[in-house]
Amino acid sequence: MCENIVSIAEAQLIDSLIVCNACFGAKELIWCPKCGKSHPYSGYLRVAFRNDLPCLHAAALVTHYRHKHVQSHDRAWQNPYYANKIPGYDYEEYKATVNNRAKRQLIRAIAKRLQEANYPADAPIDALQLICAFKMLRENDEKTESLIDSVVAKFGEPST
Ligand SMILES: [Zn+2]
Ligand SMILES: [Zn+2]
Repeated sequence: MCENIVSIAEAQLIDSLIVCNACFGAKELIWCPKCGKSHPYSGYLRVAFRNDLPCLHAAALVTHYRHKHVQSHDRAWQNPYYANKIPGYDYEEYKATVNNRAKRQLIRAIAKRLQEANYPADAPIDALQLICAFKMLRENDEKTESLIDSVVAKFGEPST
């Protein structure tokens, strides 16, 4: 991501890219519409979405939401005893379900702020750009898709 020449010991392989540790660890500030705070984000998604800032923020917010606002996914993931208590637990499928729930909660939080004219003008990503970016993420279910469509229908397409 940068032009610096570093030793392979100071770099890592992310998908098919070699990324220096400084770039990999660089922090991106994401702003959460749910808690109304900025959080530093670094790591895989910054590399995966390096050419798509709105998607980077949408994906990083889903991760933040899962970690800070829903705990059941991470608990199930780390603790097989807990996972066994969820009927039909399957890591990938359960993760997609939790991600969809997180996406909808985030989209509703953004829509609520738009409604109340309470979405900060200095947020790193425009509210409608962010909502449309959720649509580009993988594994959206029908409920998530239709929520995005109805919010966009209500508030309009992003201006940029
Ligand atoms: Zn670098
Ligand atoms: Zn939050």
